[in-house]
Amino acid sequence: ETVTVQELAEKLKKTAAEVIKKLMNLGVLATINQEIDFDTAALIAGEYGVEAELKVAVDKEALIMTEPEDDPAQLVPRPPVVTIMGHVDHGKTSLLDAIRQTNVTAGEAGGITQHIGAYQVEHNGKKITFVDTPGHAAFTAMRARGAQITDIAILVVAADDGVMPQTVEAINHAKAANVPIIVAINKMDKPEANPDKVKQELTQHELVVEDWGGDVIAVPVSAKTGMGLDNLLEMILLVAEVHELKANPNRPARGTVVEAELDKGRGPVATVLVQNGTLHVGDTIVVGHAFGRVRAMIDDKGRRVKKAGPSMPVEILGLSDVPEAGDILVVVEDEKLAREVAEKRQLRKREEILKATAKISLDDLFKHIQEGQIKELPIILKADVQGSIEALAQALEKLSTDEVKVNLIHSGVGAINESDIMLATASNAIVIGFNVRPDANARKIAEAEKIDIHLYRVIYEVIDDVKKAMSGLLDPEY
Ligand code: GDP
Repeated sequence: ETVTVQELAEKLKKTAAEVIKKLMNLGVLATINQEIDFDTAALIAGEYGVEAELKVAVDKEALIMTEPEDDPAQLVPRPPVVTIMGHVDHGKTSLLDAIRQTNVTAGEAGGITQHIGAYQVEHNGKKITFVDTPGHAAFTAMRARGAQITDIAILVVAADDGVMPQTVEAINHAKAANVPIIVAINKMDKPEANPDKVKQELTQHELVVEDWGGDVIAVPVSAKTGMGLDNLLEMILLVAEVHELKANPNRPARGTVVEAELDKGRGPVATVLVQNGTLHVGDTIVVGHAFGRVRAMIDDKGRRVKKAGPSMPVEILGLSDVPEAGDILVVVEDEKLAREVAEKRQLRKREEILKATAKISLDDLFKHIQEGQIKELPIILKADVQGSIEALAQALEKLSTDEVKVNLIHSGVGAINESDIMLATASNAIVIGFNVRPDANARKIAEAEKIDIHLYRVIYEVIDDVKKAMSGLLDPEY
């Protein structure tokens, strides 16, 4: 990064002669067309009281986000990262639980399993990482933010139910992400299980299983009895081997946030899946708009660890703020640089929120009243973890129709507070709390302002109620 004396003078609205004189004061002899480096230019700019960092700050962000190429000789195989998808009630959660329970290795038996958003199991001496927020909503929310962490998608289809709408959605999401699919035909213990029907239905979605001449691996399993689980893990390792998943553990870490929350005692806590390099306690990191130094790391068995290599999920403590699922973690040498980049991002985020709210409360509401055409249901959403927000936001967005648009004007982790209610008042929004409650102050103001607060513990109830609210906004049909 260099600049000529002439260019610098123009930027500072000074004559070249003045700049040359300043340079001489610094002991630098320069001509008008001479290139000077950024640090020198910044010094001169500083002399004139001008901040010369703006353009460079953008470059700093690029600098920390650019991934250096790995020397192929440094690459070693890494565990596959697996996400389980499928229709509701087909057994995603049961499978995740069953796999986890049956594959606790002897040395880990004492550890208390922690739900940190992902976990690792070992099969025949090889590790597999499972992302333990099932479903394609969370998967795609992350992908939408540019983070792809999944190497293999397990498509769970209940043998007694067959391919259902969300099965098809999951197939499409996995295909869009170009992620290989392994089908787990679940609930094989049930007398009415009909795996052939499942296979037949899958062919309608271009998934032809191996015993029907295709190349899709299908494994009959039962999350209830544990049948077929070993085989499923075997197949995961096989597909992983074919795809030659590799990483370089000998470099600063890079990872993705799978879950984050504000813990009362511990402060911001984020579960990060390390994707490349090794993360160490003490590393300085930038994670989305948060930064900090890794104060402690805890694995999925609740044990403190000092380092985390490729494909390992860990909870990290020490961040300045709660990041969002899908945010990228990078290790930065320089603490000042970390802070700078994070603060820039915070500022940008705040501006975006401000813009969005100003638009809703004035513009859109006005339009809404005037035209009476496009109707909106503004929603404010608070939840206990970022993962729930991502999932709900996705689901709510899908409810929008031509007549009524669901508009998530604000969402965040934590209790419903005064500012949420004020925003709701300003924009005529309904307030939804998922596994969180309003604090005393918020409750008082909500009552005074006649703002509805809806509290839920089940995602489907949220969707149901919002649907109802939307139909209330629809024009009556005659
Ligand atoms: P999810 O919505 O896909 O996460 O599904 P769940 O894991 O919550 O399972 C839905 C229901 O199916 C629960 O009542 C489970 O006990 C049941 N279930 C899951 N797997 C099996 C299985 O392999 N066999 C039988 N019989 N029931 C199962």
